[in-house]
Amino acid sequence: MTDQQPSLAYKTKQIIKKYEFAFKKNFGQNFLVDERVLDKIVASAQLTAEDTVLEIGPGIGTLTQALARHCKKVIAVEIDKTLIPILQELLSDFDNIQLINEDILKVDIAALAAENGGKKLKVVANLPYYITTPIIMNILEQNLPVESITVMIQKEVAYRMQAQPKSKDYGSLSLVTQYYCMPYLVANVPQNCFMPRPNVDSAVIRLTALEKPAVDVNDRELLFHIIKTAFSQRRKTLLNCFFNAGGWDMSKEQLTALINQAGYDEKVRGEALTLEDYAKITEVFEKELNKA
Ligand code: SAM
Repeated sequence: MTDQQPSLAYKTKQIIKKYEFAFKKNFGQNFLVDERVLDKIVASAQLTAEDTVLEIGPGIGTLTQALARHCKKVIAVEIDKTLIPILQELLSDFDNIQLINEDILKVDIAALAAENGGKKLKVVANLPYYITTPIIMNILEQNLPVESITVMIQKEVAYRMQAQPKSKDYGSLSLVTQYYCMPYLVANVPQNCFMPRPNVDSAVIRLTALEKPAVDVNDRELLFHIIKTAFSQRRKTLLNCFFNAGGWDMSKEQLTALINQAGYDEKVRGEALTLEDYAKITEVFEKELNKA
């Protein structure tokens, strides 16, 4: 006999067996079973003893326990009601974990922060992949009291969020994410770190919320519309994207004039422009559209 601890994979298997838990694919249940990745998530979330963490989808509480050891309180929101009694038993040694059986998209996150002293929350999660983008965008677009979001997501989505101009991953998701936060790619995580194995690779990314958006525009909706339009046909010029998909009642000549007025060649492609460039274009379009 050695005094070696059983591995996380072994412990997870034992828990699944003991509670006769059946994984639900529709809830994106791929539990993390790699200690090193677990440690990396916790370290990269940069927790202090004053922090309240919002964990989305605790599963069987593996990450929840690691988080609870490093912060003041963890609020864990789990949609699957069959996991609640399991979690209650497995987390019974902790007095700083609050369990909520709810769909995270229906939770009033601002109220949770207010109930917990008003300090901004840190979101940490191994996210269910089927709703990664809605969860993150919901937090960012509603300007919720969240300081940072440290999450395991599909690798492809993480790469897109942190991509820079002229790279293959750069697109509207990169620009919208970087409008609200500073992304930092923490680690790539292979499929064998989960039980059951997902059929995509994963990555951990930390998004640190900016005090104010990265660029200053009057009309955020217009900025996002312009960005989405610019990437609507990746290999086409900005002019053609605007003409084909912008939905503005303008001729090619009018659109060319506006793009030039902002300081750009109409033949430029969306992938070459930065967030600052899009802000300048938005300003010019806003003035023109308000004239009409
Ligand atoms: N945190 C655990 C871990 O790291 O092993 C489980 C992660 S698993 C990828 C995703 C978890 O999110 C599952 O427990 C799943 O039931 C839960 N979940 C799925 N959709 C949810 C939703 N809309 N709201 C809250 N939890 C959700």
